[in-house]
Amino acid sequence: MTPKRPIYLDYHATTPVDPRVFEAMRPYFTEHFGNAASASHAFGWRAEAAVTAAREAIARLVGANPREIVFTSGATEADNLAVLGAARARQTPGAHVVTSAIEHPAVLDPCRRLETEGFSVTYLPPDAHGLTSAAAVAEALTQETVLVSVMAANNEIGTLNPVGEIARVCKERGIVFHTDAVQALGKVPLDVHGLGLDLASFSAHKLCGPKGVGALFVRAVNPRVRLVPLLFGGGHERGLRPGTLDVPGIVGFGAAADLARTEGEVESRRVAGLRDRLWERLRGRADGLSRNGHPSLCLPGNLNVTIAGAPADAVMSNARDLAVSSGSACTSASAEPSHVLLALGRTRAEAEASIRFGLGRFTTEEEVDRAADEIVRAVAKVRAERK
Ligand SMILES: *Cc1c(COP(=O)(O)O)cnc(C)c1O
Repeated sequence: MTPKRPIYLDYHATTPVDPRVFEAMRPYFTEHFGNAASASHAFGWRAEAAVTAAREAIARLVGANPREIVFTSGATEADNLAVLGAARARQTPGAHVVTSAIEHPAVLDPCRRLETEGFSVTYLPPDAHGLTSAAAVAEALTQETVLVSVMAANNEIGTLNPVGEIARVCKERGIVFHTDAVQALGKVPLDVHGLGLDLASFSAHKLCGPKGVGALFVRAVNPRVRLVPLLFGGGHERGLRPGTLDVPGIVGFGAAADLARTEGEVESRRVAGLRDRLWERLRGRADGLSRNGHPSLCLPGNLNVTIAGAPADAVMSNARDLAVSSGSACTSASAEPSHVLLALGRTRAEAEASIRFGLGRFTTEEEVDRAADEIVRAVAKVRAERK
């Protein structure tokens, strides 16, 4: 007997590839396998045309010019290229960087790396809802600040930051502003020029595209943002990211971006409705539950809950039909409690008793109801055993 497939509620970690995205990618593995840099024959032209179309689709989704989109191996690389690349291009003795304490490790770890290279870094504590305000950023800026990096949406608690306001504060002082927009892309409106962003990181696999492909938006005018590349070896992607392009992956990213542009708004409303339903069903039937994150400025598919007296690992092992997570996938391999929840003022025990639900495109009402039942049952069992 094959075991029943668990209900997938971990859309912040990754998402299933939409079958329409998969169909768009398929011919680029086999029939149209050309190298997009092969300028001397039709195989190359075909691949190059597909990459151009995908670049345009992503640019359209975020309001960028296609030449401002640099393809990478994912958002980890895009974040590294933005943070290390922008800081190193502005290195002076005492150069200063501002970020938030609850960024993804793909931003925090490069910031720590910069400290070993002589930069000083301020890690801003968020407010109790996980928000980093423009005022908090403004206060942290010094004469030496060269870069600010604050995420658009947090991957654990879903809080949305006022990145347009932060961008304005930075622009007034001529400071480069980067945002990790991975979780926001396709879920909430994101217009890079309307918001005044200089750099923004994206990943295909968080919006029903394939893993291993991402992009960095690099502002080309007013001002043109200079970056020191991480890799060298060929002129691809305007010298910012050499290496043969992952044509099928990029085609998939483009198809995913088109779907997000045409269906994202309706989908976000539906997913937010399911998320609210899940919360109502949980809190109506179990006591000691509290939500983490911002009550209104929150990703539609995010629900992060602290369950008093019920450690998340015990709850999850009693709810094997559910795929949820405690903390983020990136740090859940380690035993450390979530740095995000601790920064919100949660105790270690509370952080360890918190579960992140991530709902998305293929989540159904029936799954949400079953998930609530499972959690309520598991929590009661865990609490009874701990009495
Ligand atoms: C998933 C994620 C990343 C990393 O993206 P990859 O494409 O998996 O490298 C970076 N930042 C945030 C906020 C994420 O959720």
